[in-house]
Amino acid sequence: MVSGRLKQSGLRQYFKAFVLFLLYMVFSILYFFYCVQVNVVAAAEQTIVGHVERQGYHFQEIMNIQFEFLEGMARYIGGGEELLSYENLEIIRSVCHESGFERMAIIDGEGISTYENGVQKEVKGRTYFQEAMAGRRALSDPLKSKVDGDERVIMAVPIFCEGRVAGVLGGSCDVGSLSHLLFEDIYDGAGYTVIVASDGTVVSCDRDQQHGGCSILKSDNFFHNYQTMEFVNNSSMEQMKEDFNRRLGGYAELRDSTGAYYLVYRPLELNNWVLCYVVPGAKVRESYGFIHYYEVILSMVLLLGVAVLLTYIWHVNNKEHRELMKFAQTDALTGAMNKASTEAKINQWLTGGESQGIQVFLMLDIDNFKTVNDIYGHAVGDQALEEIGKVLAQEFRDNDIIGRIGGDEFVVLMKNIGNTEIAIARMETLCQRIREIFIEALDGNHLSCSVGAAFGPEHGTSYEELYLNADKALYVTKERGRDGFTVYKG
Ligand code: GH3
Ligand code: MG
Repeated sequence: MVSGRLKQSGLRQYFKAFVLFLLYMVFSILYFFYCVQVNVVAAAEQTIVGHVERQGYHFQEIMNIQFEFLEGMARYIGGGEELLSYENLEIIRSVCHESGFERMAIIDGEGISTYENGVQKEVKGRTYFQEAMAGRRALSDPLKSKVDGDERVIMAVPIFCEGRVAGVLGGSCDVGSLSHLLFEDIYDGAGYTVIVASDGTVVSCDRDQQHGGCSILKSDNFFHNYQTMEFVNNSSMEQMKEDFNRRLGGYAELRDSTGAYYLVYRPLELNNWVLCYVVPGAKVRESYGFIHYYEVILSMVLLLGVAVLLTYIWHVNNKEHRELMKFAQTDALTGAMNKASTEAKINQWLTGGESQGIQVFLMLDIDNFKTVNDIYGHAVGDQALEEIGKVLAQEFRDNDIIGRIGGDEFVVLMKNIGNTEIAIARMETLCQRIREIFIEALDGNHLSCSVGAAFGPEHGTSYEELYLNADKALYVTKERGRDGFTVYKG
């Protein structure tokens, strides 16, 4: 009972501390993972915004190079005697295929455009022509080709001749494929690029994408395409439109049944165009996937650590408990069990079902012990008790129960004895061994003891019954003159 209570309260204390520790750890880890997740998302967003910034800049650079290329040619063409000379037309014909332009044309001051293949067309009313004639670089909005139906933009630069604008050099190119090239390498080409005007009109879009491209743009207006999608995390269609108008870069997070997407935009210094890049959110965060891998490893390591710690605590607790229990049950002087434990242990054994055959209950009392104390002192008496404890421990088996139940009184339960002769022989030896104890302070005198024995189940089936009968037998031994043993006779 006492043992159970002790064990329970010890374990409960450990359990409480452990649960608190575990809660603290789980909370800390979850908070740590939450912070990591927040930072991963922020880093992923920064990365994609950075990508679009850089690619927008590159895109402008490419366009700039194209303009510079056209301007270089325009200078050469303007240096000739005649704008539409055979030589000039031959130059644009040969250069056209080498450059990034699909078509090239020299436009005279009247707006008659002569293409590299000799075809002529009037473009007087086109804005790009008028702008270039005013001496500036011009970039048209997409124009549908009558030949293949594809949309192209025209880049146009003025041709100066003796300080005045004599005509225009133009080149057409597919902006969509140009922009696609830029983004091909990032996120495994999972995203798609759209160039739109500030009002949302689609200027060009990357057509070759498997997962998107123009096929996903169901409307000519860029904004209309995302009306059915949900804007999340503080982004909104209104904010995006406002940014487009104010020529600001930014990003929106969108979601629909197919998943979450990032829509990143950056204004270009070309017309009022905005470069837009749309990519699945999962793809953006994919490069940080290794962090989740390490999170799993960390969790496993911590879990293992907790399991090891738990096992260790349990082990130490058990060991301490066993030691404590032993200490609490043992009589410090003789090493025998104390009275309460002796009684509990013997009763437990007798009723436990493991007892077979004869259970020998011995009561042992030192003869004239008071006199020993009186003559030789209490310390010598203690030494005598200690020596008797040693003899008992040596004389009986490890699993026999040996207890000190009073000042000079001991009890022994010999378990499962085959016959009474064995018990009698053991009592004889015991008395002899006690007589042989040598204590220098006794000045040659020796100790002796009186023993009373009762046999279970014949003389009793409980500690109380056996004690009573063994005590009677002990009394008989004392009456007979001590230093011997008596078996109870019912
Ligand atoms: P009897 O032969 O009739 O048993 O005589 P006795 O003198 O041994 O009488 P009894 O058994 O009644 O006396 C027990 C004595 O044991 C009483 C006490 O002085 C002594 N004693 C009890 N506990 C201790 C102890 O821890 N140390 C020592 N030195 N003596 C103790
Ligand atoms: Mg005595």
